[in-house]
Amino acid sequence: MRMGPGKHLKGVFMSLHDALLQFTRLPHQLIITQEFARCGQRGYGDGMMSGSVIGLPPVLNFGSEEIKAKVVPDVLSGRKPICLAISEAFAGSDVAGLRTSAVKTEDGKHWIINGTKKWITNGTFAHYFTVGCKTEDGFTVILVERGEGVETKAIKTSYSPSAGTAFVTFENVKVPVENTLGPEGSGIFVMLSNFNHERWVMCCSSARSQRLIVEECLLWTTQRKAFGKPLHSQAVIRSKLAAMIARVESTQTWLENLTYQMNNMSYKQQAAKLAGPIGLLKMHATRSAQETATDAVQIFGGRGITRTGMGQFIEHYHRTVPFDAILGGAEDVLGDLGVRQAIRGMPKNARL
Ligand SMILES: Cc1cc2nc3c(=O)[nH]c(=O)nc-3n(C[C@H](O)[C@H](O)[C@H](O)COP(=O)(O)OP(=O)(O)OC[C@H]3O[C@@H](n4cnc5c(N)ncnc54)[C@H](O)[C@@H]3O)c2cc1C
Repeated sequence: MRMGPGKHLKGVFMSLHDALLQFTRLPHQLIITQEFARCGQRGYGDGMMSGSVIGLPPVLNFGSEEIKAKVVPDVLSGRKPICLAISEAFAGSDVAGLRTSAVKTEDGKHWIINGTKKWITNGTFAHYFTVGCKTEDGFTVILVERGEGVETKAIKTSYSPSAGTAFVTFENVKVPVENTLGPEGSGIFVMLSNFNHERWVMCCSSARSQRLIVEECLLWTTQRKAFGKPLHSQAVIRSKLAAMIARVESTQTWLENLTYQMNNMSYKQQAAKLAGPIGLLKMHATRSAQETATDAVQIFGGRGITRTGMGQFIEHYHRTVPFDAILGGAEDVLGDLGVRQAIRGMPKNARL
């Protein structure tokens, strides 16, 4: 459901197929994603197959019928998870800097893949890897199956190991050329094609996580008494709450506006008209989230930095909130993308 509408649901959940199709439009994905966020456990949420949300669409959109028939049922049933492996120590924001290489064997029947990937969500337990590779004629995305030459090592981030964040090594990994996703040399297009949806998903969870924090703060400032009065009787606290509420409401409303537009546009139209606005929304969501996290810690006092007890959601949120500002496109990079797309649309002779 979290990968959008399509034939991939058919046959896998036969009896549920019709019902599921009802749930695959973007507004329904928005609700599902926001419900996941309500658990307030960021790493656990990412462990719930978020690798598939970003790693399977290239297979669905660019894989051959044979590859899809082999891979999709296993991934959707949870038997063989998949992840997206693009970033490297050498290439994060600058995707074009990636160095993992894929070279054809002499008979042209296989790729030989060498290189490393870093911060790959679900990588520690993934069976399939959707890998961005450098090839003779540019970049190519190739589906790699766990096997000889593939090694994954957990990276200890500041959230949960259940997200399976991995450092992945490919050493002379032999892959059939049939595993190529999209035409050879068109890897940049394949990689970029899923970014709008990925960023939108992140905005959904960011908006709902912020709302959870506002709810916690409203409860706490009613319950907690200082100087004989509830905390919310202090104007400075109410001012923080006002800013938090305004931030989350503006994020959610903008998100719903863009969701409506995405739902009524093709992928191509979305790329032309909405890549910039989605980038700006993600920048707004993650900036708001970080300001709200700082305010919430202040409101909760010592409990806001304590991993157990009444402030546990606040502590967790404050510790993990920078994640969204980095993955799926760093905050600064996306803000810049939004402005550049807006400027591109300006008439050349625009004057005051
Ligand atoms: C927990 C986690 C999970 C991840 N999961 C995945 C995954 O599943 N698959 C995957 O492929 N990758 C994944 N990533 C990698 C993620 O996509 C990269 O971390 C991200 O693209 C940023 O790259 P970087 O960390 O190398 O930062 P850099 O590219 O080194 O950038 C560092 C900072 O420099 C600034 N900057 C860089 N370029 C510009 C610019 N052009 N304009 C303005 N400012 C700029 C930004 O502030 C940026 O935050 C994950 C990362 C994390 C932390």
